[in-house]
Amino acid sequence: MTISAPIPDLRYCASIDPRLAAFIDALPKAELHLHIDGALPWDQMRRIDPSLPERPHVWDPDYRFPSFEAFLRLCDQYCVPWLTSLDRCASSVEAMVRTCAAQNVRYVETSIDLGAAMRMGAPADVMAAMRDGASRVPGVTTRLFMGISRDALSRLGPAVLGVLDIPDLDGIDLHGVEPMPIEPWIEDLWARARRQGKATKAHAGEFGPAASVREVVEKLHVTRVEHGARSIEDPEVVELLRDRKVILDMCPISNLKLQVVPSLSRHPIAALHRAGVICTLNTDDPLDFGSTLREEYALLVTEMGLERKDLIAIAANGFHAALLSDSEKSHLIGEVERVGASMLA
Ligand SMILES: [Zn+2]
Repeated sequence: MTISAPIPDLRYCASIDPRLAAFIDALPKAELHLHIDGALPWDQMRRIDPSLPERPHVWDPDYRFPSFEAFLRLCDQYCVPWLTSLDRCASSVEAMVRTCAAQNVRYVETSIDLGAAMRMGAPADVMAAMRDGASRVPGVTTRLFMGISRDALSRLGPAVLGVLDIPDLDGIDLHGVEPMPIEPWIEDLWARARRQGKATKAHAGEFGPAASVREVVEKLHVTRVEHGARSIEDPEVVELLRDRKVILDMCPISNLKLQVVPSLSRHPIAALHRAGVICTLNTDDPLDFGSTLREEYALLVTEMGLERKDLIAIAANGFHAALLSDSEKSHLIGEVERVGASMLA
């Protein structure tokens, strides 16, 4: 599938070479770090609530969130009045996956925070609604994760420990404020998930230092770290990630907006990629940043010093990380390499 339309809604690139845009559009891509609570359909939300502005003020490219807590407050401000029913949840997932499909994304992993899910109903019903919404979009395979905060047990109660019984659940992802400790129940839950064949991930190395990345790798035994940007601060952690083939699901615009990095040119994705760490590229919370995956790819070249051949490798990494069969993965990676090579020629 080739999409010839130019990249819409550029916010962080002043402009983009049309040949680079065509290259990015032609590459089959994966989106592996995408929160449904941060990817709600703004246009649908405005139709229901006309008092909402045409564009959220936080989409201004110069806007920076003053803190992670301020970011969480904004997420709640959008999410709580919108995600109120299973139908709303299904249609939001459908809209999110359609937006991915329009950018030639073939594989999506999305998480919903357990607290947000419990506001809508039984978590199993919410996951079933998400599955239903995702299944309405042909050509994209979607895997569903429950986001569990580091303080979820004290905040949400013992329902947290039952999440692995949810039939539509593909995996769990550690969310929340990073300086909070990894309590023993989290280690137990992650170990149980692995024994049951569920995928496990953890957010780390965003606000926490490189040591927090080491902590989730060594304590939770994850091979998928969401962000991991601050791994770059410790060469031994970089070595650990490379040696254990840990995948970093990175989101540069998110890191810019939340002031994890002072500028995109200082983002560590290029250095980590060159050091042999497996990096994927993702948007995290496009509703809160006004970002698109297309623009994230463009910025790798225009701001972060990578070349088109690196974009091919990073797109292929997304399918390498995917929860797909070996034959499905090699089919998609083969397509990425074929399309990439023909566009480079
Ligand atoms: Zn995230």
